[in-house]
Amino acid sequence: MKFAVQSRNDPQSNELMERAIGYLTDFGLELDEEKPDIVLSIGGDGTLLHAFHRYTHMLSEVAFVGIHTGHLGFYADWQPNDIEKLVISIAKGEYRISEYPLLEVTVNYRDSEESFTYLALNESTVKSSEVTLVMDVVLNGRRFERFRGDGLCVSTPSGSTAYNKALGGAILHPSLEALQLTEMASINNRVFRTVGSSLVLPSHHHCLLKPVKAEDFMVTVDHVQLLHKNVKSIEYRVAKEKVRFARYKAFPFWQRVHDSFIDSDLKD
Ligand code: NAP
Repeated sequence: MKFAVQSRNDPQSNELMERAIGYLTDFGLELDEEKPDIVLSIGGDGTLLHAFHRYTHMLSEVAFVGIHTGHLGFYADWQPNDIEKLVISIAKGEYRISEYPLLEVTVNYRDSEESFTYLALNESTVKSSEVTLVMDVVLNGRRFERFRGDGLCVSTPSGSTAYNKALGGAILHPSLEALQLTEMASINNRVFRTVGSSLVLPSHHHCLLKPVKAEDFMVTVDHVQLLHKNVKSIEYRVAKEKVRFARYKAFPFWQRVHDSFIDSDLKD
C-alpha cells in the first residue's frame, strides 16, 4: 500500500508527519506523493481541504484520513496521541470507506466558449467584486428569484457545518446527496424579495446563478478564492465524484457534530 502525508506545516504537525512516515515505512508501506492509496492529513480542516484539492484528479483511487492538530478538526478522526494506533490500523489495512458527496461548480464566460469546472469539499461562495451582489437564481431552468445582498453560499452536506452553518444554514447528513444554497445578508423589503431560507436541492436538480448587471465576481471553492471576469453564469450541481474517507474506527457524523459544536466530552 502507498501513502502520502499532508502537514499543516507547524512544528507539531511536522513532527507527527516524520513519525508517521517512519512508522509506516517500517511496516513496509511505500511513501508515494504521486499515486497514494491513503492520504494522511495532519493539521486542521484547512489541511484536509488542501490535501483534497491536491488529489482531486484521482478521487476514486485515494482515501483520506485526518489527524487533528488544528483548531476544530471536523474531518479528522484521530488525535496526535493515537498516532501509533492509527499507523498499526493503516498497516493492517483494516478500514471501511465512507463516501461523502461533493459539489460541482462550473463558471461560464460571456466572451468565451471555455468554461471552468471545480470540485468543492465544503462549499463555493459568490460575492460581487465591488457592489451588492445581484444575481438571478435559476432552479432547473426556471427563474426562482432575483437575489440582492452580500453573496450566496452553496455547500456540500459535509461542508454544511462550515461557512454555511455560520450563515444560519442547516446541517445536512452526508448520506444525503444534496447541495444547500444559503443567503448572505439578502436585501428584503417592500421592493426586493428573496425566499430568505436555505434551499436544499437533491442530486437530480441544479442551480444556475446569472449575473444581472455586473460581470466580475469573487468565487471561492473551499479555501481558494478567484476573481472571475465576464461571467455569464455559474452552475452548481451535486458532483458525480465523491470524496472517500478511510475509517479505522466508528465516529458517527452526529457525534462529530456534537464534539465540534456542543462539547468534546460526551456525557451520558
Ligand atoms: P480558516 O479561516 O482557517 O478556517 C475556518 C474554520 O472553518 C476553521 O476553524 C476550520 O477548522 C473550519 N472548518 C473547515 N471546514 C469545516 C467543516 N467542514 N466543518 C466545520 N468546520 C470546518 O480557512 P481555511 O482553513 O482556508 O478553510 C476554508 C474554509 O473556511 C471554507 O471552506 C469555509 O467553510 C470556512 N469559512 C468559514 C467562515 C465562517 O464560518 N464565517 C468564513 C469564511 C470561510 P480547522 O480549525 O480544523 O482548520
